[in-house]
Amino acid sequence: MIFDAHTHWDFQHERNEEGIRYAQSLGVEKIVAFGPGFGPNSHNSRQPNEDLATFAEKYPGFMYPVATVSPAMGSEAVENLRWAITEKHMVGLKLAPGAQAFRLAGDDAMAVLEEAQSLDIPVFVCASTSAHSTPSSAALVARNLPRLKLVLTHAGSANYWADAIRAAKRCDNITLLSCGNPLAGMRRMVKELGAERVIFGSDFPCAYPYAINYELAKVNSLDISEAERERILCKNIAELINVEV
Ligand SMILES: [Zn+2]
Repeated sequence: MIFDAHTHWDFQHERNEEGIRYAQSLGVEKIVAFGPGFGPNSHNSRQPNEDLATFAEKYPGFMYPVATVSPAMGSEAVENLRWAITEKHMVGLKLAPGAQAFRLAGDDAMAVLEEAQSLDIPVFVCASTSAHSTPSSAALVARNLPRLKLVLTHAGSANYWADAIRAAKRCDNITLLSCGNPLAGMRRMVKELGAERVIFGSDFPCAYPYAINYELAKVNSLDISEAERERILCKNIAELINVEV
C-alpha cells in the first residue's frame, strides 16, 4: 500500500477531486492532509482546522487531516490543538516555524509541543532551510521531550539533510519524512537509520505536478527489501497515526 504522509489541500479549490483521482491512479490509497497555507496569523482561529477536518470527512479511510496552531497565541494555541485532536479527530500537528514566524525551541512552541506529547500525536515539523527550525533545533526539542514523536518533513531538504540524519541518530523519537531532498540524502537516511525511521511523502499538490511520481521513484530505486519498502511507503506513518493497514 502507498500511504502519502505529506500532502496539502486547498479545500476550496474546485480541482481537488481531480488531484485526488490522479493520486489514486498512481496507487496512493491513503494520505495525510495538511492545510494550504501557513503564516504568522493564519491559525489564530479554529476555522482553518475546522475547514480541513470537514473536507477530510468526505474521504473516510483515505484522507487523515492534520491540525496546525499559531504558537504565539499561548494557552489558546494549546487549547485549540486539544480541541482539534479530541473534537475534530485530526491525527497530528503540523508546524512550519519559518512561515509561521516562531522559534521551534522557543517557550511558546514548547507549550504546544508538550501538549502534543501528552496527546500522543506526531508533530510534523518543516525542518529545512529556516533558521527557526534547523534539524539541530529539532534535536534540542526531541531531547527535552523524549516521548514526543517528531517527524521532520523534507528531512532537512537539499541543504540540511546530513544534519537531519545526525539529529535522528541522536534522538530515537525523530523520524525523517523524505520529500524535496535529493536521492543521495534519502539513500544515506535509509542506510544510516534504517527503513523504520524514514517515511514517504510527496508534498502534492502544492509541489510540482509530478511530485508523487518523482518521490515514488526515489523509494523504488533504493536497494532494500520489499518489507523495508513497505515500511517507508506505508507502515511507519500508519503506526504513527494509529491507522490499521
Ligand atoms: Zn509541505
